[in-house]
Amino acid sequence: MQYSSLIKSEKISKLGFGLMRLPKIDENSEDIDFEKAGELVDIAIKSGVNYFDTAFVYNGGNSEEFVGEVLTKYPRKSFYLATKLPGWSLKTNPNPKELFDFQLERCNVEYFDFYLLHSVNDDIAEVFEKTGSYEFLRQMKKEGKIKNIGFSFHGSLSLFKRWLKEYEWDFVQIQLNYYDWENQDAKTLYRLLEEKGIPCIVMEPVRGGSLQKLNDEARAVFSELSDDSPASYALRFAAQLPNVLTVLSGMSDKEQVLDNIKTFSGNIPLSEEETTAVNKAAVLFRKNFAVPCTSCGYCLEACPNSIAIPDIFMLFNEYNLSRDDAAFNKSYKDIPKNKNAGLCVECGECIEHCPQKIDIPKKLKHIHKVPDSIG
Ligand code: SF4
Ligand code: SF4
Repeated sequence: MQYSSLIKSEKISKLGFGLMRLPKIDENSEDIDFEKAGELVDIAIKSGVNYFDTAFVYNGGNSEEFVGEVLTKYPRKSFYLATKLPGWSLKTNPNPKELFDFQLERCNVEYFDFYLLHSVNDDIAEVFEKTGSYEFLRQMKKEGKIKNIGFSFHGSLSLFKRWLKEYEWDFVQIQLNYYDWENQDAKTLYRLLEEKGIPCIVMEPVRGGSLQKLNDEARAVFSELSDDSPASYALRFAAQLPNVLTVLSGMSDKEQVLDNIKTFSGNIPLSEEETTAVNKAAVLFRKNFAVPCTSCGYCLEACPNSIAIPDIFMLFNEYNLSRDDAAFNKSYKDIPKNKNAGLCVECGECIEHCPQKIDIPKKLKHIHKVPDSIG
């Protein structure tokens, strides 16, 4: 395992375990299969992974419960634990302390190594500022209940610059992968952090798994080079950057865990030939995205009608590539009637939760009409 020493006297694994896509008991629920998920964590820890990332909202709170029941069987000092304060919840309960104390209890720990203001965008930033959340985090740091303070970001460049200027951060978490490097200007955010000497934590290095799946043309670019998985190139792209503290991967099965461990046990920097391949794959993959959804699931927390938003977008992206009308019609019909796009009432609740800034109701409306239009 490769380690980073960007934070003084800490040895943090370059591969971080994101606890948001753990195996579930039933795909239609948020209940994590603790036994299966525990096996993944055991393998990761045995192989040297020591950074674990959860959040208040992951799996409707089950991810933090999993930490409290399973991860904490390991000695507290043997792992770094990161979790996050949900700005959306502060809208109805403007008391960060209440949420924080609840998280400590749910995770069964006395302190968090890394604590983030979650998914900051222009709207949520205002909520954090109104509720004094940053000042609260500093107080918790003083009391030893937080070791490092940061935020995860999905907002505008001007907000990013302002937050770096106005507050003091130990680290910042951004979406960074070879596809978004130019596309969503991850490069600019990364460079700003580098200039200020603030370590960067990478989220979505494989873009919700889509840079593993790719499309046939992009996949062929990598298979011509080696048998290594497409995901391994995406992870190495992020991990090779000198100011990256750890790269989070939301692992959900043993195959992924083992593949990632293999990646982070070998050579990280991409060769010139590999860099060319990555750039080529990004161009070939661009046409894949009818909807740039990463399946993060944040919108699901907001939707009053429990619409299966990421599943619907995934089907539509597949259809965009295959143009297989019959296959799309069949799989769209397989989405339970009480979760399909036709139930969208265009309330817009989901939009502010979406880190990719997708106009979800508009896309759903369009997709729902597709089966009729193709017959
Ligand atoms: S706009 Fe549609 S998809 Fe979004 S929260 Fe409202 S009902 Fe759900
Ligand atoms: S629509 Fe947006 S919030 Fe919902 S899963 Fe996709 S990326 Fe995440």
